[in-house]
Amino acid sequence: MFTYDAPEALLKDRIILITGAGDGIGRAAAHAYAAHGATVVLLGRTLEKLEKVYDELEAAGYPQPAIVPLNLDTAAEHDYIELANQLEETFGRLDGILHNAGMLGVLTSIENYDPIIWQQVMQVNVNAPFLLTQTLLPLLNRSKDASVIFTSSGVGRKGRAHWGAYAVSKFATEGMAQVLADELENISPVRVNCINPGATRTAMRAYAYPAEMPENNPTPEQIMPLYLYLMGPDSLNVNGQSIDAQGNGSA
Ligand code: NAP
Repeated sequence: MFTYDAPEALLKDRIILITGAGDGIGRAAAHAYAAHGATVVLLGRTLEKLEKVYDELEAAGYPQPAIVPLNLDTAAEHDYIELANQLEETFGRLDGILHNAGMLGVLTSIENYDPIIWQQVMQVNVNAPFLLTQTLLPLLNRSKDASVIFTSSGVGRKGRAHWGAYAVSKFATEGMAQVLADELENISPVRVNCINPGATRTAMRAYAYPAEMPENNPTPEQIMPLYLYLMGPDSLNVNGQSIDAQGNGSA
């Protein structure tokens, strides 16, 4: 497991947007970031889940979060512009984005892959993070140091049979992070990196590996050290990297 001992006030006064914040790893990141002082903007498609996380954060006495219900499969340009306008009005800037929302699609051969599901997976996993990042870049550039984190996967580095659009989308994610990191290096306060969470105990994992014992995988809470490290200023000089949350690294 990547190890990092985050200072309590690591993300104090930071405004951080998390996609897929209602469940799994995104929900754990919302808790971890808010617990370290951040005001988190919870984006996701199921309002009830976002409201539950909102209530949990409020009950814990963390900074008051914000909720953005948005389906990344169907969101249009005006939705992204509206979000940017709302964030600008409310906060005036953005200090970080965790691109965490993801869609698995189906596990089948490319020969048999349903083209409609293929496009949905690419829309949620690749096109939406692109549109979100592009629209919010002016707000990120107003931060003194901002962090953009994309979420990859083991199959985004080595293709595997039957992982179809999901694997292809994660290769694209790694590429997008590298291109953007290189473009922004030295000219912007924004750094860009990728996290590969590794096998983690969530609904997506259970769906992909129905025969697996969930207890054998770490919980989303257990993999948070890397999420904290890359979001906070201790990683100021880390740019264009793809790091394993369950790897041997430390900071
Ligand atoms: P999860 O428990 O299924 O959570 C995925 C989140 O993404 C949910 O909050 C979901 O919202 C949201 N989401 C899905 N489609 C969306 C859409 N169209 N619009 C907006 N939000 C949407 O999965 P997870 O395991 O936490 O996965 C988080 C990230 O880690 C994903 O990018 C995944 O590919 C990656 N990852 C996970 C593992 C693992 O073992 N768990 C391994 C490698 C990579 P709803 O709850 O409303 O559906």
